Order: sequence, then structure tokens, then C-alpha cells
Amino acid sequence: MPPEDASHLAPDLTDRYSRQILFPGIGADGQRHLASAHAAIIGTGATGAATAALLARAGVGTLTLIDRDYVEPSNLQRQILFDEADAQACLPKAEAARRHIALFNSSVTVHAAIADLIPANIGELLGAEKRIDVYLDCTDNFETRYLLNDYAVQQGKPWIYAAAVGAYAATMNILPTETACLACVFPKPPSGPVETCDTAGILSTAVNLAASLQVTEALKLLTRQPHLMRRSLLSFDLWTGDRSEIKTGKPDPDCPVCAGRIFTHLAGEGRPHITLCGRNSVQIHEHHRPVSFAEMRSRLEQHPDIEDLRSNDLLLRFRRGPYTVTLFPDGRALIQGTTDIAQARTLYARFIGS
Ligand SMILES: [Zn+2]
Repeated sequence: MPPEDASHLAPDLTDRYSRQILFPGIGADGQRHLASAHAAIIGTGATGAATAALLARAGVGTLTLIDRDYVEPSNLQRQILFDEADAQACLPKAEAARRHIALFNSSVTVHAAIADLIPANIGELLGAEKRIDVYLDCTDNFETRYLLNDYAVQQGKPWIYAAAVGAYAATMNILPTETACLACVFPKPPSGPVETCDTAGILSTAVNLAASLQVTEALKLLTRQPHLMRRSLLSFDLWTGDRSEIKTGKPDPDCPVCAGRIFTHLAGEGRPHITLCGRNSVQIHEHHRPVSFAEMRSRLEQHPDIEDLRSNDLLLRFRRGPYTVTLFPDGRALIQGTTDIAQARTLYARFIGS
């Protein structure tokens, strides 16, 4: 097949993306569609950093990155967009990713949101006026995935599930009205002990495979070829070489979400506090109100048992005994050193306010 005519692309872009344009599945038209596309990446940790990097390299014009966490040394084994300076500065992941993408593809517009995706802010972050073409799940928890599923089905917007733990990677495309949704396939979140990065560890190769599968599906969609997208839950174990593929088919006529349009997660019912993956910590996000770091600093400096108090524009951090408290400008906090919610709440109330 002769290479597609790329003369309607700007010359510098034709050169930058020449190898991708040569690939028949993309071509010059596909490349043009990518330049005008907007993908939102929810979670910019391991999978999200790889997904963001691949989409930015491929020339997807606009990316929205949403992440609640900051970079730590233990992330560097697998979170390919970050470096030691980011960990040293405790830079929020969404902002660190934005800065790194700007270094290798300055033509991509990146919106970084340092936030936990919750029912109260999902409309603002992912709403119709943002003109987002696809939502990419790079989270580490089912709570956020069910919230995203509710919102995507309500808005009729495609989203792509991705998961990685141990040596295992899995993805699934959800195209509302065409395919099963997350709740059709998994009516309830997994119960009982679930393997996480904390208990099973994680290989960076599993993360990168999950990201590669997810991004390839996104490229089909963003080049306006949704009919080529897989209709299955595909999973691999990279260590054993086992592969499994389960057809996901049509929406389940009994699904409360896509058939009943009952969006319990979007309504915020039963949202617990979250224990983060990969860390002995609790997130407190019940206090949504702006915090003045300057005021907070001068107050905390009075406490004799507070150590290592540091702040920049994006976060404030201190140690108190075995606990490290990280506070974000919207009042959200991560309490490290405990998985006890009552203990975390007590620390928050005592040092930040109730
Ligand atoms: Zn469904």
C-alpha cells in the first residue's frame, strides 16, 4: 500500500509523526484526528504515567491528567514519567507529568488537576464543556472505577478500564449503548481480600503492557475507528505467559447502570475513606474548603512536636511522631504511617482543623 498523502499536515508534524503516519491504521488523516483529540487520564501513577507518555508521544493534542497523589522514591521503579528530583520535591504526580511531557512534546496541551476524582467534582473535571473524547482509567481502586462507569454511561462517553498488579495486566473497552459496562461484567466490586500492589507487588512490565493495550484501543477510537475496538476483557500474566479473553458483548438488559440508569456511585452513596495502594496511609477528603498554607505554617510552627514542616504552592507536609501528613490546597490530606481511619481523623482534627 503506498504511503498516504501527508501534504495537508504541517511539515514539522509530518516529520515528527512520519513513522506513525506510515502505519496504515493511522495514516495522515488519523494523525490529524489525533491532533484535535482530547483524552482524560484518571490516575497518573504507574499505568497513568505510561499512558500519558504514550498518548503525548503519539501526538494526541490535549490531555487532562487527574491525580491525588505526589511522587515518592518507591514510585520510580515503575512510574516512567518521574525522576528523583520529583520525588525529592514531593511534586504532585499530575503536575510532574505535565512538566515532563512539555519537555518531549511541547505541542501537546496538558491540563493537570491535583485532585481526587469524586462525585462532587467529576462534572467539573470531565464535563461536556471540556470536549473530552475518551476517559482512561488508570486508577488503583474499584470505587473510582464505578464512579467513572456511572458518569461515562450517564454522559454516553467511551472509557477504557485498565488494571495491573503483580505480573498481571487487564483492559476492557466500555462503549455506552454498544458494549457491556463495568457493572454488567462486575455487578459488585471484588469482595474479601483483594490483591494490591501492597500485597502482591508489581512489575513495571505489567504496568507498561496495560498502558500499551489501553492506548492502542484509545488510538483506534481517536482516529475515528471505534468499530475496530475490542469487545472483550483481555488479560495477560506476563510471568507465566497465560492469556485470557472473555467476550463482553452487548449491555446487560438487567444492568442497573446502563439499563436502569441508576447511578449510585455518582450519587455518592456509601463512599468510605480510602486506603491508598502501595502505602500505609489514609486519605481524608471530607473537608472541601481552601486552606491558606501561610496561615497553616505559622500555626503549625507553634507545635513543639511537629517536625520537618515544608510547603510549596502545591502541598504542605510535616511529620509528627510516626506519621507524615501531606495537605493539599483544597483541604484534602494524606496521612502516612497508619491505616486506622479514626487515628487519621484525630490527627487531621488536631493539626489541620475539624
Ligand atoms: Zn451495564
